[in-house]
Amino acid sequence: MHLRYSGFRPLWIELNWKLMAVEAVAGKKSKVVVVGGGIAGSLLAKTMQYDADVILIDPKEYFEIPWAKWRCMVQPSFAERAVIGHTEYLTQGRLIVSPAAKVTENHVYTADNRCIPYDYLVIATGHADSAPLSKAERLQQFQNENQKIQSASSILIIGGGPNGVELAGEIAADFPEKKVTLVHGGPRLLEFLGSKASSKTLEWLTSKNVDVLLNQTVDLFDKYGDDVYRTSARETIIADCHFMCVGRPIGSSWLNATILDKSLDESGRLMVDEHLRIKGWKNVFAVGDITDVPELKQGVFAQKQALVAAKNIKQLIKGKEKRMETYKAGYIMAIVALGRKDAVAECPLATLIGPIPGKIKSKDLFVGKTRRNMGLDRKASS
Ligand SMILES: Cc1cc2nc3c(=O)[nH]c(=O)nc-3n(C[C@H](O)[C@H](O)[C@H](O)COP(=O)(O)OP(=O)(O)OC[C@H]3O[C@@H](n4cnc5c(N)ncnc54)[C@H](O)[C@@H]3O)c2cc1C
Repeated sequence: MHLRYSGFRPLWIELNWKLMAVEAVAGKKSKVVVVGGGIAGSLLAKTMQYDADVILIDPKEYFEIPWAKWRCMVQPSFAERAVIGHTEYLTQGRLIVSPAAKVTENHVYTADNRCIPYDYLVIATGHADSAPLSKAERLQQFQNENQKIQSASSILIIGGGPNGVELAGEIAADFPEKKVTLVHGGPRLLEFLGSKASSKTLEWLTSKNVDVLLNQTVDLFDKYGDDVYRTSARETIIADCHFMCVGRPIGSSWLNATILDKSLDESGRLMVDEHLRIKGWKNVFAVGDITDVPELKQGVFAQKQALVAAKNIKQLIKGKEKRMETYKAGYIMAIVALGRKDAVAECPLATLIGPIPGKIKSKDLFVGKTRRNMGLDRKASS
């Protein structure tokens, strides 16, 4: 069913559109395909599962709270709550475990050669990742990373964005005896925040004996033996192990050379309208970090978008397009955890560091809250 919208709608598109609503009225459920089972896609799939035939396509069998992964490495038992099998919350929908590889006007094709028809499509492939297929393998991976940390006396972290800073904070707080060096290519840490947040974070890390080297990179091919690394400024770092903490690429490369490639902006994000529909399309939505909505890319907004898009798809299914909700871009506090008690937070009026913002995020990293949103017990492990 082709529902591309180009201002003037030919009669057959109009008829198709009405037919879709009629089918829903007649009791036949619409097919909603959600591509990407991260923060946004999984919540949308869960929310829609009683209103439509929902199919979730994700490369892994589980949903993982992305920002909890560093805590899962220093404390692998934490992963039992932060890694959630898709089937635990998606009790009515269908799960297809494979990356999506291509999209056409009526179908999504997966890398394992399945062809999935849709009436409504939601793209939620925020960031590409290379995590293992099963939850058991993922939990084992956290155990292995933990062993690596436990047995090292010196650790090199490459990347001073939120990932590198949160990992450095976790290790400094839980293993104060270990020598941690953080190397960042840019002039300041946490460049997505203001310079006040960067300097306060640098002070905090330095006070915990983390060596921070700015404006330098590490070439992993330029190593001497197992434990001697060299930076671009010719400094030598001795470390028993290293962690690459650079950001993950936007998960839109699979859309190149498909019907949606013209909908990608220059940074690879999908351009959406106020209802979170991909511009020019009537039945194709995008939610989460993959969208070009002008706001900080945060899970809390990804969830808000998922709920708005779910409402809008429900209205379309009922044939009530005019009742669709408008998504309003937001700005709230951005918080970067610094171990279990502290955090650095930036909001429009102030930048704070220490236990006050730490109380909001660092103890549980919003894991209980996210589990509750997914209809699961906040405390129990899955
Ligand atoms: C260190 C750090 C700390 C953060 N802290 C916070 C915080 O405290 N609060 C907050 O609100 N936000 C935080 N964020 C931001 C938050 O993680 C993101 O905004 C959020 O994860 C975006 O969700 P998403 O569903 O759009 O994308 P993702 O969570 O990236 O999920 C994308 C999903 O799509 C899947 N996928 C990718 N490609 C394909 C494909 N081809 N086919 C099928 N599936 C595919 C992936 O496997 C994944 O499951 C933090 C980010 C970082 C890096």
